[in-house]
Amino acid sequence: MFKLYNTLTKKVDEFTLRDPKIVTLYCCGPTVYDYAHIGNFRTYTMTDFLVRALKYLGYSVKYVMNVTDVGHLTSDADEGEDKMEKGAKREGKTAWDIAKFYTDAFLADSKKLNFLEPDVRPKPTEHIKEQIAMVETLLVKGFAYTIDDGIYFDTSTFASYGKLTGQSLHELKAGTRVEPNPQKKNPTDFALWKFSPPPAGGKKRDMEWPSPWGVGFPGWLIECSAMSMKYLGESFDIHTGGMDLIPIHHTNEIAQSEATTGKSPFVRFWVHGQFIMVDGQKMAKSKGNFYKLTDIEAKGYEPLALRYLYMTAHYRAFLNFTWEALESAQRSLTDLREHSSTGGTATDSIPYKKRFQEAFENDLNMPQALAVAWEVAKSGLTEEDKRALLLDFDRVLGLDLDRHTVKKRIPEDIKKLMEKRENLRKARKFDEADSVRKEIEKKGYEVKDTSLEASTGQGQS
Ligand code: AMP
Ligand code: ZN
Repeated sequence: MFKLYNTLTKKVDEFTLRDPKIVTLYCCGPTVYDYAHIGNFRTYTMTDFLVRALKYLGYSVKYVMNVTDVGHLTSDADEGEDKMEKGAKREGKTAWDIAKFYTDAFLADSKKLNFLEPDVRPKPTEHIKEQIAMVETLLVKGFAYTIDDGIYFDTSTFASYGKLTGQSLHELKAGTRVEPNPQKKNPTDFALWKFSPPPAGGKKRDMEWPSPWGVGFPGWLIECSAMSMKYLGESFDIHTGGMDLIPIHHTNEIAQSEATTGKSPFVRFWVHGQFIMVDGQKMAKSKGNFYKLTDIEAKGYEPLALRYLYMTAHYRAFLNFTWEALESAQRSLTDLREHSSTGGTATDSIPYKKRFQEAFENDLNMPQALAVAWEVAKSGLTEEDKRALLLDFDRVLGLDLDRHTVKKRIPEDIKKLMEKRENLRKARKFDEADSVRKEIEKKGYEVKDTSLEASTGQGQS
């Protein structure tokens, strides 16, 4: 039985399938105005574990992860500059160039971290029509209003606003940190569509589109609703993201989606990952205390060591990043690969598989799943059984153990036999050397000869 903590119900719920029998899952992807940092990657890795776990259990999964390439302002409360335009100014490029460059960087990093490819990776710049249609519906249904700089969602018209945080509209209003635009009806109201400001110094925005309300661009939350519903339906199974998305981004996604369709729930399971911290503070671009994947690689660590590190903490617990912790994750990863190629006396592999599955079925308890993998690595199972089991587990762990377990340790008795054979060959006692070779092969090792002159006595297996 697969169970997940659901932010909506605030408890661990059993995951059940609905018709059609396919799990529909959406993850809020990166805003591609800069490199993603290893905090962001923790959230995406959690989503990757989740998709892998569902697939391991035999579910068909339709997985959508967007790339935000327009409309995300520097503050989540619709204030400040558009992040893409800001990135363009910083680098003297167009917003389109910035989006392309950092999307490619994100995809390259995702590959290094062994993320499964989503079935769809939509971009808001390619779904302007869908977003405009949603805003039109919200205006017609009376959930939205127009002020000088754009069209806003009226949060007071949506009765269950704030159900994800468990706070009332009144409490959410009181907690709003950013001074609201005085024209907004409620501080919690958010932009659905922004009007392009008059060109500054004759320069227009790089990204803007015609709409029934003049030239403008979408608010950054409307994309997730429009695109998730386009690909997954008006009500779907799982939505993931980091904890910080709960009070604004996801709260508003629910409001605008359910107001548009009149259907509830928009999403059945909301799954949120806890932050990576550095010195007790959230790792964030705005704080300048962040590391990119290339920083990790520059210090000689594998991206998959970071993946291993993520696995050592439950996704709902804080994870404090230190270089020592990464060093230890790298060592453990290397060890796990080594261990998976030494065998002992055979025992039964079934109980391990059952316990591995039970671990991740229990609210994606990856630290426990990893502990079971270690039990296997250190067990008395034969080399073949260990390898088969660990590679089976790797469908969820995603540590690419297969690629790296090719280097096998050669047991001492085999090394001795190879040395004996080499000496016999050097003494030109080929018949005796041949019978030692047969003995080695009987033990499951293949002898590949180098020429006698070049031979070092270190046969290969
Ligand atoms: P952003 O690019 O800020 O929209 O963040 C992309 C994703 O990374 C979101 O799901 C965030 O919640 C998540 N995120 C941001 N900072 C961290 C962090 N320090 N630790 C874990 N996840 C984070
Ligand atoms: Zn989103």
